[in-house]
Parts: sequence; structure tokens; C-alpha cells
Amino acid sequence: MKFYYTDRNGGASAAPFATFNLSTNVGDDPVAVAKNRAALAAKVEVAPEKLFFMEQVHGNEIAIIDKESDPSISPTADALITRELNYGLAVMFADCAPLLLSSKQVSAAVHVGRKGLLADIVDKVLVQMRDMGAIGISAQIGPTICGKCYEVSEEMRDEAEEFMPIAASQTRRSAPSIDIPKAIISILSTAQIPGKWNGVCTHEDQSFFSYRRDKLTGRQAGVVVHGRR
Ligand SMILES: [Zn+2]
Repeated sequence: MKFYYTDRNGGASAAPFATFNLSTNVGDDPVAVAKNRAALAAKVEVAPEKLFFMEQVHGNEIAIIDKESDPSISPTADALITRELNYGLAVMFADCAPLLLSSKQVSAAVHVGRKGLLADIVDKVLVQMRDMGAIGISAQIGPTICGKCYEVSEEMRDEAEEFMPIAASQTRRSAPSIDIPKAIISILSTAQIPGKWNGVCTHEDQSFFSYRRDKLTGRQAGVVVHGRR
């Protein structure tokens, strides 16, 4: 498969990171995380030294992964792009949206939270992919907090609305919210790229880590493998 998402089940980590935590930055036992990352590489059928993670900082920096890239070093970035066949690019998330993009020429994994969205990371990645020759890009948004759950302050909602009106939403109890998947789909659509959200809300579905729900928790990952159909 070209797009793959983990949930919190089937890994080696103990509570509160139980069990399939893939982040080295949340306080989990590094041995457990290493086991989980190795298990992820096996699941997506990518050599462990060809599975790349990033140090995500809610920005809009892009790191290009090529044959010179060292998998033991996670670049500080919120998007990874590669043109290397059978390389896996991982984006970690626990409410923020994992956006996976694929084309015959290049693939990308993007971390899209509120800040990244407003820093225009999605469009920036699409421009970079096309600069690198991408034609016929397909996209999928994995599990993420939905617009009915992602409550924010009025000020934050207004800021999102200013960036793009469709991003502004409200929760079930009519509090201000931001609809990240809807905003991403709109950006993709403007760029003529077919893309869907897989419809899973991390905040509602207990089989996923949710930062909003649990605070001290793990991170699951979305992985795109370049060259897969
Ligand atoms: Zn929800």
C-alpha cells in the first residue's frame, strides 16, 4: 500500500504511551520506540534504513530525503519529500493531521496542525513537489481531530477564518473551532488534486493517541512509501 497509518495498538510501549508510540520526544522508553519503529518498517515493507522521520515543530520547513540522507538523523521540518523508490516517509501525529501525497515522480508526508496550516505548509509542499516534477498527485488525510472536536479561542478561529473562511467551524456545543481536514481538502481542490480525509477523528476514537484528550500520550504515524501503488 502507498498510504499507511498506525493506531495505538500492537506496540511495545507501556502506559501512558501504550502501546504503539513512535515518538522519541514524549518521554517514552527509547528501547520501546525503537522496537515500534522497526515494527512499522516491517509493516510497510520498507528497509529500516529507508524509513525517515522528522523533528516536527509546527512550522512550514520542508526536508528533501535522498540517497545521502542519514535515517538516524530526523531533520527539523514539518514535511518530508523524496523521489527515491521504496523510501518511507513518516509523519507523527496525535490530533494534528497527517497529509500523505503521492505521485509517480515524488511523494511527501506532511504534518498539518493549526500553525502549519496558517503558515501555508500544504501549498508550499505542493509547489515544491511540482517543482520536482510531480504530475498526477494523489492525496489522503489520515486520522485527525475533526472540526466538531477541535475547540479553539474566538481569536484563533478568527485568525483561521482570515486565512481561509472554510477553516472556521464550530463544535457540537457551538464553541469556536477549526476544521483542519476541510481546510486541507479545500487547498488540495484549488490545486486540482483529488484528496479525501479517511474520516477518523483521533479525539473521538479511543484506539488513537489524542493529545487533546490525554495530554501525556504517544504519537502514531502516517507513512507514504514512494513508488507504491
Ligand atoms: Zn471529532
